[in-house]
Amino acid sequence: MCEKTPAEALQERLCMKNDHFMTAHADELAAADAFCDGYKAFLQKAKTERECNRAVIAAAESRGFVPFDPFGSYQSGDKVYADNRGKSVILCVFGKKSVAEGVRIVASHIDSPRLDLKPTPLYEDTELAYFKTHYYGGIRKYQWAAIPLSLHGVFIKKDGTAVPVSLGEEPGEPQFVVTDLLPHLAKEQSKRTLSDGIRGEELNLVIGSRPFKSDKGSELVKLNILSLLEEKYGIDESDFISAELEAVPAFEVRDIGFDRSLIGGYGHDDRVCAYPAMEALFSLEAPEHTAVVVLADKEEIGSDGNTGLASSFFRYFVEDLADMQGVKARHVLHNSDCLSADVTAAFDPTFPQVYDKMNTSFVNHGVSIAKYTGSRGKGGASDANAEFLGKVRAILDNADVHWQIGEMGKVDEGGGGTVALYLANLDVNVLDLGVPVLSMHAPFELVAKTDVYSTYRACDAFFKS
Ligand code: MN
Ligand code: MN
Repeated sequence: MCEKTPAEALQERLCMKNDHFMTAHADELAAADAFCDGYKAFLQKAKTERECNRAVIAAAESRGFVPFDPFGSYQSGDKVYADNRGKSVILCVFGKKSVAEGVRIVASHIDSPRLDLKPTPLYEDTELAYFKTHYYGGIRKYQWAAIPLSLHGVFIKKDGTAVPVSLGEEPGEPQFVVTDLLPHLAKEQSKRTLSDGIRGEELNLVIGSRPFKSDKGSELVKLNILSLLEEKYGIDESDFISAELEAVPAFEVRDIGFDRSLIGGYGHDDRVCAYPAMEALFSLEAPEHTAVVVLADKEEIGSDGNTGLASSFFRYFVEDLADMQGVKARHVLHNSDCLSADVTAAFDPTFPQVYDKMNTSFVNHGVSIAKYTGSRGKGGASDANAEFLGKVRAILDNADVHWQIGEMGKVDEGGGGTVALYLANLDVNVLDLGVPVLSMHAPFELVAKTDVYSTYRACDAFFKS
């Protein structure tokens, strides 16, 4: 064995490392791959916030969680969930300590960018039938043309009956598509800027082309679609008014690369943090502090709305916990710690110009902490305080979690937000952390399996702290 040189010894003592998973965590590789098998199955079946909500509640119930009763009383180790309108959900495992000593929260979101149908979506043009859409969240519109899309959601009929829709995922089911011009005729379109390549009003879904029999009449292709919809779902054209139908990429979740190290799929943002948070909570029996996972809707459009984290549903849940134990909710919140678990941009070697390599996240370098998000001088960020960062990094290091810290791109290159500020505004200690993603918000996003696993390990260590 060679002795370390004085420089090597000093380097080891003073310099920070940012290592690949395989450097110090190779022994956990099999566990990481196995964990991701579960995640891939979850992602494949949970393509919308409603489907995520149902998948999470089904998983929770199978592990002994029961619906939360605000008038009930609970002991350490009891497990409950609170369903918010079928689109967001809170999971909770009661701890040994009073909630007055604070709860441990992991907050993620389960909505993803997509194409929503307009309230009056169905039309016929030149013997083709279409649905008009209104995109949801920050998409690059040109990426959504000429790819297979599936349709998910629900019709609510006037009598309150819910008619669920999921079409285009199972083998043999029809799918839908937004058309694009052929290159031969795209000379003018090609002069548009990339952000304008496909326009909002051009995101029209092709849904059919055969007329209703050979009767005389106008719009017989549209009529034939309505006839098929009546047959399949028992609805008429007015039922689109009280429907939430979402067109999402119909791609299957797949391993990517010869080494299968990456997962390609739609909606990693932010189910890739929601799933590890949920699994970490499921592994708790009777934690010291009450542990809470909140899976919110509406993050991609700013978190407003009664299923988003800017609403009061989470605060009301904490108020119920506090009332039950005879303490004040504001004291619970003040003493609570939260990880805002959301994805961040991974360094992309094809586009290095937008990243500050010293302050960015790399795939396979672990769960990534972001002290702040936001844009134009941290605008819209909650900017965690150094004290809380100190506490969290100690928790992660003590549990040997593989982690890194980064920002989302260079200063003034762009930016983004998370739910962190809504929890911080409730007087909770909050820090952003999550999985680095390549092609974020694209119809097919990429993450590294080891980073998904590291996010699970981070949530686990946090809940047990
Ligand atoms: Mn997100
Ligand atoms: Mn997002």
